[in-house]
Amino acid sequence: MMTEEQLMQYDKEHLWHPYTSMIEPLPVYRVERAERIYIELSDGRRLIDGMSSWWSVVHGYNNPRLNKAMETQLHKMAHVMFGGLTHVPAIELAKLLVDITPKGLERIFYSDSGSVAVEVAVKMALQYQYAAGHPSRNKLATIRSGYHGDTWHAMSVCDPVTGMHSLYSGRLPVQFFAPSPCVPFDGPWDSKCLEPMEQLLEENNSQIAAVILEPIVQGAGGMRFYHPLYLRGVKRLCEKYGILLIADEIATGFGRTGKMFACEWADITPDIMCLGKAITGGYMSFAVTMATAHVADTISAVAPHAFMHGPTFMGNAMACALARESVSMMIENSPIPRIKEIEHVLKKELEIAKNFDNVADVRVLGAIGVIEMKKEVNMALVQRRFVEEGVWIRPFGKLVYIMPPYVITDRQLKVLAQAMVRVVKEL
Ligand SMILES: *Cc1c(COP(=O)(O)O)cnc(C)c1O
Repeated sequence: MMTEEQLMQYDKEHLWHPYTSMIEPLPVYRVERAERIYIELSDGRRLIDGMSSWWSVVHGYNNPRLNKAMETQLHKMAHVMFGGLTHVPAIELAKLLVDITPKGLERIFYSDSGSVAVEVAVKMALQYQYAAGHPSRNKLATIRSGYHGDTWHAMSVCDPVTGMHSLYSGRLPVQFFAPSPCVPFDGPWDSKCLEPMEQLLEENNSQIAAVILEPIVQGAGGMRFYHPLYLRGVKRLCEKYGILLIADEIATGFGRTGKMFACEWADITPDIMCLGKAITGGYMSFAVTMATAHVADTISAVAPHAFMHGPTFMGNAMACALARESVSMMIENSPIPRIKEIEHVLKKELEIAKNFDNVADVRVLGAIGVIEMKKEVNMALVQRRFVEEGVWIRPFGKLVYIMPPYVITDRQLKVLAQAMVRVVKEL
């Protein structure tokens, strides 16, 4: 058996961690186990989790109901191919999703990760335009500061700067970018905010298959919250020009913003919607692309009469069983009232950071709290300070932010938020 030191040395030499060097990697902490909202490190320290493991672990770690759902399914089958076969978890999950998502999204494609769900959505939009007789509509329009995943087309619609498009210039598909919406979530609405997108679509609609965006909350591309009327306006423009709207709800879905789906803030149904992250309660990688019957029927009416995608692990039975359980838990006991309370506590606790000289902005929506610094933070240092404070918060760039599991108590939430404020103050 390897000693602790050997383990960590092996990790350092051989394992790529996200977005870090293989020569001088950022430090990593070894986790032994996790329970409810606690991440327990190998040295016994317990950290209050502020990240929900990147928006996903909404019901907490080691959740008895999710554990049981997984065990029960395991003894039936972990997986069978979805070509020519089907199973109850896949069907029942579909029904739950159709019931709780915005009305009209009724056709469901299962895949294995968020980025793939975005690729699937993009292929659907392109194949839809092809089948509808507009093969030249083969590009995408989006807004800056977005994040849609790390695969090829998903990356092409991420923010060009934070998404490092320059690294792949000449190869990455070139898409149309409008500025990030200028009116914040709770700002006074100004219809001028929509004009750049309006102009973009008016001038280029003959080349555009779809607008893709994260509704209301732009996550990993900048943690920005924008006005619901912007989203509603984009939906209207899409309808006007025969362009599809793809709502990427991979981060925002399942309650995070204070509505079950962020599209509800604008009371719209997108043509295509992507779900992921929290869908299995953070237990397994799994994602969904939902479409309207109109999109699916248009694609299916024209040769090759099939949507051309089919991953090996499509409809994985374990993932479907977990997602069915996770979504059922939300239907039986809506997390929304609790998320409103979390929002209230976060607003109160983070407010004080507005007065700090090094802070540019503080914003809270649903179970998301963001402190935007004036300068980029030193990640290794800040991370260590947070661990010393007994919390798990992972900043990026100028953004120090939390989106805790919904099962966090008020007391734990205060400890988390106060540690965040304390560390931010010393930066
Ligand atoms: C995380 C995320 C993705 C990518 O999902 P992965 O499972 O990491 O591939 C796509 N879109 C949004 C909005 C995300 O937050």
